[in-house]
Amino acid sequence: IFSGPISFLKSAPQLQFLPDPSVPEIAFAGRSNVGKSSLINALTNRNGLARTSNTPGRTQELNFFDVGDPLIFRICDMPGYGFAKAPPKTVKKWRYLINDYLRGRQVLQRTFVLIDSRHGIKDTDKDVLDMLDKAAVSYRIVMTKADKVKSDALAKMAEQVEAEARKHPAAHPELLITSSEKKQGIEDLRLAVLESVQS
Ligand code: GDP
Repeated sequence: IFSGPISFLKSAPQLQFLPDPSVPEIAFAGRSNVGKSSLINALTNRNGLARTSNTPGRTQELNFFDVGDPLIFRICDMPGYGFAKAPPKTVKKWRYLINDYLRGRQVLQRTFVLIDSRHGIKDTDKDVLDMLDKAAVSYRIVMTKADKVKSDALAKMAEQVEAEARKHPAAHPELLITSSEKKQGIEDLRLAVLESVQS
């Protein structure tokens, strides 16, 4: 599936621009700079499919990608969050968009929440996990940039993150540990994605 056709469909700055809920969907969420674009590109084996979002406030949109032709499922790339300099108005807008999307999107099978292996779960991440719990959207935590930390530190961080995940009712307790740079854990992520759209 990931070596077949995958293409950018559209950006939705507001809910009325969402694509028709005709196929299962999965979403990717994470703080700005967590490595979300790189991971989506590694997952789909395409450079530049998902674009990096280094400018605060610029990617306040849900970006959709079609997988398969005929269409099998969609990937939603959610706008990054947690930008220190983001104006309160931007944060508020982000919250409304994400909350409405999570609560209203019946085709959404699972969200993958990306956590930087160096930083672990921050308050803004907890906020998102709470939103997912409340919307009853199942999610799975994906550690990114695993190549940036030594294996003992990674194991310790993974333990902490897993302990936090266990407190959240909608979280799948098993972490995925990845590095887009070293193409680590990408095959497991692909399996996890397929598993969530097929069930
Ligand atoms: P986004 O803002 O979440 O979409 O993050 P990007 O994918 O743009 O990545 C942010 C920065 O982290 C970029 O400089 C990437 O090159 C770097 N990066 C992303 N993934 C990895 C990884 O697995 N390992 C390393 N070492 N760097 C990464």
